[in-house]
Amino acid sequence: MIDTHSHLYDKVFDVDRAEVMARAKAVGVEKIFLPNEDETTIEAVLHVCEEYPGYCYPMLGFHPECVDARFRERLLPMKTFLSSHSFIAIGEVGMDLYWDQTFRKEQQEALDIQVQWAMEYDLPVMIHCRKAYPELFEVLSPYQKQLTGVFHCFEGTEKEAEALLEYEGFMLGVNGIVTFKKSTLPQVLPSVVPLSRIVMETDSPYLSPVPFRGKRNESSYVRQVAMKLSEIYQCDLSEIDAVTTKNAIKVFKRLP
Ligand SMILES: [Zn+2]
Repeated sequence: MIDTHSHLYDKVFDVDRAEVMARAKAVGVEKIFLPNEDETTIEAVLHVCEEYPGYCYPMLGFHPECVDARFRERLLPMKTFLSSHSFIAIGEVGMDLYWDQTFRKEQQEALDIQVQWAMEYDLPVMIHCRKAYPELFEVLSPYQKQLTGVFHCFEGTEKEAEALLEYEGFMLGVNGIVTFKKSTLPQVLPSVVPLSRIVMETDSPYLSPVPFRGKRNESSYVRQVAMKLSEIYQCDLSEIDAVTTKNAIKVFKRLP
C-alpha cells in the first residue's frame, strides 16, 4: 500500500515518529508521500524524507489556507527549492473557501502560478479543494488535457466525482472519511468511480478512520481505508492494495 498524503513531519509525530513508521511498515505500507504546507514547513518535509530514504517522498507547494495578501513574495523563495531538490509533486495546492473567503482571488492566482510550476517541471499536482469546485475548475480547466495529479480527500457527490474524472490524468484520493458513519462515499464511489482511478491516503494526523476516529491518525491506518474499499468494491484486500499502488505509481511518475 502507499499512503499518498501524510503530514508525517508535523510536530505531533516528533515524540514517536520511528514507531509510527515501524507500524506503517508492519501493516504493509511501502511508501509515504508528504505534502508541504508553506515556506515554513519545507525543511521539516525534506528532513523526514532524508531520514527515511526510499520510503518517504516530498512534495513542494503552498496550501490554499496559507495564502494571504503577501503570497507572491512568500512563493518566490519556494520556487528555488524546485531546482535544488527533487520533489515527486507540487502540493498541496488548491482552493479552500470553507472557513474564509477573503483571499479567493489570491488563492486562485497562487494555484495558477503553482500549476505552471508543475507544467515547467513536469510534475503531478496534489489538489486540496473544499467548498470551492467552481473556483477550482476556473483555474484548472485551461490545463485539463496536460495536467496530472490527485484530487486529494475526495468526499463529494456523484456529480462532483464525474466532473473530477473528466480530468483523465487524475486520481481521486480516498481517506478515513470513507469509514465514517455518515459518509456517502460507500454509495458514490462504486457507482461512478472505477477502482483504476483511486489512490489511498490518510491525511494524518487528521481524519482518523473508524475505529480510531478522534485520535491522531497515522499511516498504518491506511489499512482501514483499504478494508473499507475492499468491502464496497467487493474484492480482496490484496487487489485493493495492488490496484491503488499501481495507480499511485502511474501518477507519481517521478518516483525513483
Ligand atoms: Zn493535507
